[in-house]
Amino acid sequence: MTEQERNVMEENVRAVRSKIAYAAQQVGRAPEDITLVAATKMNDAERVRAALACGIDAAGENRVQELLEKYDAHAYDGKPLHFIGTLQTNKVKYLIGKVELIQSVSSVRLGQVIAKEAAKCGVRQDILLEVNIGGEESKSGLAPDEVDDAVRVLAAEPTVCVRGLMAIPPVADTKGKNIGYFRAMHQLFIDIAAKKYDNTDISVLSMGMSGDYEDAIACGATMVRVGSAIFGARHYM
Ligand SMILES: *Cc1c(COP(=O)(O)O)cnc(C)c1O
Repeated sequence: MTEQERNVMEENVRAVRSKIAYAAQQVGRAPEDITLVAATKMNDAERVRAALACGIDAAGENRVQELLEKYDAHAYDGKPLHFIGTLQTNKVKYLIGKVELIQSVSSVRLGQVIAKEAAKCGVRQDILLEVNIGGEESKSGLAPDEVDDAVRVLAAEPTVCVRGLMAIPPVADTKGKNIGYFRAMHQLFIDIAAKKYDNTDISVLSMGMSGDYEDAIACGATMVRVGSAIFGARHYM
């Protein structure tokens, strides 16, 4: 990385932080109540390390293989690591002991596999349940009306702790387009938290990406996952 690339990244993080603070204050919330997760996919260990050093709260990876490579390269040292991508049950074992939070638990079965693998390692794994709030065929995640049952079933697993909900709404081509989905997610989050199921600690609502994190915060997000606004546009090969 060049010095200039580092400066750009630092400036990007500063800008994101200041927009987070503004969005939070607009709705009477404290900026430090919002966790900023850098969505690090397709950025190498050096770039991830540089971004995390600019004052980001956690790293979020999408692919297990990519995570393991960067983990070995010490990309995430000193910061919590989250998994935010599609997760196959046979890959769960590689994440246990490395990630603080698995955000993308898209089915009860996946949650149960995580519980089993965590038990083998003698740890308790924090998870978020992913909700397919847009009802999109192409996306995984629980339907909103499946969430309550899923929390109840997973609350019975002593080696996982459901910490809240995560959503990836449809791609928004115009500003403000996802506000309806964000509001629906917040209501779902409030309803689930109010049930106070044993062995759960529902306090995280992860929603909002580069294009819409300010709207998500206005609607009650406690955690945002920001990629391109920090790293620049991704170059898919
Ligand atoms: C890539 C990604 C993000 C961040 O997307 P940007 O639009 O680049 O901010 C957030 N969440 C998930 C699950 C992602 O895969």
